[in-house]
Amino acid sequence: LSSKSEALINKENNYGAHNYHPLPVVLEKGEGVFVWDVDGKKYYDFLSAYSAVNQGHCHPEIVGAMVQQAQKLTLTSRAFYNDQLGVYEEYVTNYFGFDKVLPMNTGAEAVETALKLCRKWAYEVKGIAENQAQIIVCENNFHGRTTTIISFSNDETARKSFGPFTDGFIKIEYDNIEALEKALESSKNIAGFLVEPIQGEAGVYVPSEGYLAKAKALCEKHNVLFIADEVQTGIARTGKLLAVHHENVQPDILILGKALSGGVYPVSAVLANNSIMDVIKPGQHGSTFGGNPVAAAVAVAALEVIKNEKLAENAERLGVLLRKGLSDIAAKNPLVTIVRGKGLLNAIVIDCDEESELAWEICLKFRDYGLLAKPTHGNKIRLAPPLVITEEQIQDCLSIIEKALNDFK
Ligand code: PMP
Repeated sequence: LSSKSEALINKENNYGAHNYHPLPVVLEKGEGVFVWDVDGKKYYDFLSAYSAVNQGHCHPEIVGAMVQQAQKLTLTSRAFYNDQLGVYEEYVTNYFGFDKVLPMNTGAEAVETALKLCRKWAYEVKGIAENQAQIIVCENNFHGRTTTIISFSNDETARKSFGPFTDGFIKIEYDNIEALEKALESSKNIAGFLVEPIQGEAGVYVPSEGYLAKAKALCEKHNVLFIADEVQTGIARTGKLLAVHHENVQPDILILGKALSGGVYPVSAVLANNSIMDVIKPGQHGSTFGGNPVAAAVAVAALEVIKNEKLAENAERLGVLLRKGLSDIAAKNPLVTIVRGKGLLNAIVIDCDEESELAWEICLKFRDYGLLAKPTHGNKIRLAPPLVITEEQIQDCLSIIEKALNDFK
């Protein structure tokens, strides 16, 4: 590491509260699939800020929309109407096929909002007795880091000494339709089922074909809301606009974040139809920044880029190519035991246990060869480039990955 990088890393470590365990690289510039560090070294970004930068770094149309709006009006709060929000709300609801949207800022905040919405619907529409609503969630979920959300996390390091927690969650095995059926039948107080269509943070677990469609049908049968957290899987990442579209499912509540802004600005959203969304009355939920004019302008531009550049189709096609290349590497290198994913949300599993440093060492080697990726749960490495990547670039990245892995053979 250069002395410049080291000095900047030390500043973050000395003055910033601990957050993740960052890979030692200090970035200062991004364009499309590439990022550059402070010494001018260029890398392929294979994390895309956990699938936020689907449209590529600093997409000129999205940045342009942000700058243009920022020079005119940035924030009024929701105390007044603004000229961008309604336009965005009409656009985003039509885009995803819902009556209404509730604008928020971050993914976790949108998940919290969806849980509140689901509970209120349960009391006011379904008729569950006050404070009795239960929401079904999945083992190994990741929905963010607020106190309510970590109440039902499996991650003990993220939970320890942060209690007391929020009640009212039933945890079942992911990708187990019988477990869902049993949970739905276990009580009259079930209000919702919160699910990631693919579990991203857990290590890119793709559920069995038909799971989401069956889960939706069961929820309908029991008058329970199917809540899809597409913060990571949505906005073309898996080869469709939403990952639930692979099974023709329309959720009752849809949660979006990350790539809703192309990573340019924090924008998240909860979408639902009137019969659900209208249970929230004025003054019952809100946010100073949610729905601000810059966020609205940025989100419209970000969604237009997805359609205009056919990024879902690109993710679908190049995902197949990437997994084929990774499988070929795995066939020659026993270090890679599993290749999995959908579209451009993929992971390889390294032949070591979760406590091993091997996947971390491999990611450091990727970095040395010009590709940035990060291990998740020790032995899994997520491979999720911006969706603007080309076939030629995928081939180049496969060579880098193969070369780096061969150093550990
Ligand atoms: N839900 C899912 C499925 C996520 O992957 C994430 C972030 N990794 C979140 C929610 C939380 O989003 P944020 O970090 O913006 O709060």
